Amino acid sequence: MAHRHDPGSEVGVKIRAHPSLCLGYGLCHRFAHKVYHLDEEGHIAFHRLDVPADLAFEAWIGASVCPQRAITVIGQPEDHWRQRRDRLAGAANGPT
Ligand code: SF4
Repeated sequence: MAHRHDPGSEVGVKIRAHPSLCLGYGLCHRFAHKVYHLDEEGHIAFHRLDVPADLAFEAWIGASVCPQRAITVIGQPEDHWRQRRDRLAGAANGPT
């Protein structure tokens, strides 16, 4: 059985957000509500954030769905997260 999280194999990430680019689509929050908190108007409200390892994957997912590219994740390169997402998707679909 595949485990969604494997703590210890990853490290935390830092996030840099760019509120001036945010148009309030809310997708970051919808996909990663534990990481991305929005203000009353639905805009991202921070500039920098340290994210622990167990939320690093969600942090990347939330950043990757932002249509404005208003979120930068500083840590593992996008390829790492893309491969991890593909592995998880493969595990969810069962053995091939
Ligand atoms: S997804 Fe991007 S544009 Fe939408 S609220 Fe989040 S930061 Fe703002």
